[in-house]
Amino acid sequence: AAEVALEHSKERGRNNICFFSPVLHEQTLSRYRINSFLHQALEREEFTLVYQPQVCLRSGTLLGVEALIRWDSPELGRVAPDDFIPVAEDTGLIESIGAWVLDQSARDAADWLAQGLVLKMSVNFSARQFQRTEVADQVLRALQTYRLPADQFVVELTETSFLHSAERTEHEICRLRNQGVRIAIDDFGTGYSSLSYIRQMSLDMLKIDRSFVSGVQAGSTDARLVQAMIDMSHAMELIVVAEGIENEQDLRVLHELGCDQAQGYHIARPMRAEELVKWAEHYQANALLSPDDSAQL
Ligand code: C2E
Ligand code: MG
Ligand code: MG
Ligand code: MG
Repeated sequence: AAEVALEHSKERGRNNICFFSPVLHEQTLSRYRINSFLHQALEREEFTLVYQPQVCLRSGTLLGVEALIRWDSPELGRVAPDDFIPVAEDTGLIESIGAWVLDQSARDAADWLAQGLVLKMSVNFSARQFQRTEVADQVLRALQTYRLPADQFVVELTETSFLHSAERTEHEICRLRNQGVRIAIDDFGTGYSSLSYIRQMSLDMLKIDRSFVSGVQAGSTDARLVQAMIDMSHAMELIVVAEGIENEQDLRVLHELGCDQAQGYHIARPMRAEELVKWAEHYQANALLSPDDSAQL
């Protein structure tokens, strides 16, 4: 009905009354509601972190995890990060949320380390965190507090992060890298990255966006695109991670294309810290690739 109303208003021309679309209304309302409840979410301890395993595509070995935020609001229910992170970015709340994510993820990584579980910790950062706060200091301080080795920590940034305050972002990234922290470019292929930019930036890893990975068919255009991204990354000595491995075929295709690491529902869903420890205990690296496959390896 909303679309019909909009179509009508277009047909009638610009000078006519503008129909108020219920769909648009719902979106503005929820953004508004998200904003009003987001302010108290931190102090009310409504955030948690879940961790999704990342494995080596050649051996199946568990290498690390990506920390992903979850918000369970008593008023709104579970709100997806894709819905509230943009609001947090607009309002500046991302700075305190980001600080919490950093602290909690470093704390959990230290806990695992104490239990003998060595895992790389990847944490998502918003562009805004790089513009407004001293991110490098923040990260290095957290690593020091929890006695974590810098090379076990990965900062994930999207391509678009580099568009805003490019100089500042670059400066912070260089400081982190000089201390051994790894930098990954997230959702690669969906932003506005230029090859020259990627070449200039000091990066360690590139994560191919799941839109290229999930459901990829061997020999398809997408497969060739993925192949090109992998070759390009390797030419720049970057480690390539495929996100969104949803089934056996995605895993097989990416393995054949020479991708280094993988992450996705087929391997494991994101889980709570305690759950992850149990999962890691029972995980069998050689069972990930089918028996036929592992015979060839
Ligand atoms: P992202 O960093 O690209 O994270 C990957 C997203 O893909 C996660 O969604 C994850 O749950 C989902 N995913 C993993 N495997 C699969 C799969 O096989 N199939 C499909 N369809 N999806 C898969 P999630 O947790 O909803 O997070 C969405 C985005 O929100 C993240 O994308 C990231 O950009 C942002 N985000 C999440 N946590 C944080 C955070 O702590 N700070 C910031 N700044 N952003 C965050
Ligand atoms: Mg990410
Ligand atoms: Mg991603
Ligand atoms: Mg994403």
